[in-house]
Amino acid sequence: MKSDTDVAIIGGGAAGVAAGRHLHDAGIDCLIIEARNRLGGRAFTETHAGHPIDLGCGWLHSADKNEWTRIAKAQGRKIDETPPPWARSSLGFKPGEQHDYREAFDEFEARVSKLARADGDVALSAALEPNGRWNGLIGAVVTFISGGETGEVSALDYENYAHTDVNWRAVEGYGAVIAKHGEGVPVAFDNAVRRIDHSGKRLAIETAKGTITADRVIVTLPTTVLAEMEGLFKPALPGKIDAARNLPLGLDDKLFIALDRPEEFEKDSRLFGAKNDSKTAAYHIRPFGRAMIEGFFGGANARELEAAGEGAFFDFAVSELTAILGNDFAKRIKPITIHRWAADPFTRGAYSYAVPGKVDCRAVLAAPVDGRLFFAGEACSKHDYSTAHGAYRTGIAAAEQVMAARKK
Ligand SMILES: Cc1cc2nc3c(=O)[nH]c(=O)nc-3n(C[C@H](O)[C@H](O)[C@H](O)COP(=O)(O)OP(=O)(O)OC[C@H]3O[C@@H](n4cnc5c(N)ncnc54)[C@H](O)[C@@H]3O)c2cc1C
Repeated sequence: MKSDTDVAIIGGGAAGVAAGRHLHDAGIDCLIIEARNRLGGRAFTETHAGHPIDLGCGWLHSADKNEWTRIAKAQGRKIDETPPPWARSSLGFKPGEQHDYREAFDEFEARVSKLARADGDVALSAALEPNGRWNGLIGAVVTFISGGETGEVSALDYENYAHTDVNWRAVEGYGAVIAKHGEGVPVAFDNAVRRIDHSGKRLAIETAKGTITADRVIVTLPTTVLAEMEGLFKPALPGKIDAARNLPLGLDDKLFIALDRPEEFEKDSRLFGAKNDSKTAAYHIRPFGRAMIEGFFGGANARELEAAGEGAFFDFAVSELTAILGNDFAKRIKPITIHRWAADPFTRGAYSYAVPGKVDCRAVLAAPVDGRLFFAGEACSKHDYSTAHGAYRTGIAAAEQVMAARKK
């Protein structure tokens, strides 16, 4: 294993891969130190039932401006431009209901914008209409967007998120694109970092497989992992750990289900399990036209199901789907796979949100220390947090900061 490098990059997710590729291509000696045996982190494509399946990020959000779209195309990947199910009609609504729900959601977001412009940040729940008919479903959709419940997520942070409303998919998998982009960049796999000692002239990075020395480091650890590693930095950097704690990862998990006789459903359609409960899942039916359903579970619901064990997700899906589609529907579905992101020790959640009043923690987390410690990862982005392209941009920004610091 390489035990010395100019720039160590802790974590080989979208941010670490972007930073590593940028530095390596600029001829700078660097090494990604990754706890897992693969690149991509929360970008994770696995092949099941003959199809590449994205257990983490799947949508190229802001796809027309997203750097991964360009990279995927340069890799020769096919991009599917079918509009996402959430931008089209969902199944299971009575006539007029979908329109009413959409209107209620738009009004909720308009109130969020108003709250975000006011003094003093509050939780998204302040924007819910008291006893609003659609509050349950709005709450569920907020967990799909943010990973957190309306009572946990900052209204200002939610408002800061920027997007172009163009959402595409890489047919061979978003995770596959990101992992491929890291090919050729030196990586130390299966090598969890335990401590970064920045007390000496050079940095000493203690890992599961020994110490690696470096001049500079880019830390891209997920915030919930970072928040749990109080002893990571020596001397300690309590401001960083504190910032990470105020930007926790919410939770979202995807369950893939095989579907018999799929042709009954329209390709890329969607069904909510319940219309009046925040603890419901969204079912994306026939993604890419495939004979499967992608169940999406968020927030407290996903946490409870994770705690109840892997089978709990499928049981929950069966109970919701049979309640709508009839008991016989249970005979047409079988679980394919799930990844429980909160139980994953190298992630501990899905994507970051800021707790009310703590939006500035994104900049605190991203700020370099001493010209030697640099930070990247989706949580460092003010406007593109929670996404793989946000992670990419922070990775490139950190690599550029490293390059500028080397010239001083
Ligand atoms: C279910 C789900 C759905 C999502 N959907 C979308 C979507 O459709 N579109 C979108 O843009 N985004 C989506 N996201 C979010 C997106 O995947 C992330 O924002 C992005 O991949 C984060 O990249 P990152 O580099 O910041 O972090 P990560 O990918 O988490 O990278 C951090 C790396 O650090 C490694 N690591 C952890 N601990 C250590 C240690 N001690 N030592 C060394 N390495 C360590 C991890 O293994 C990981 O590889 C989704 C995420 C999930 C979970």
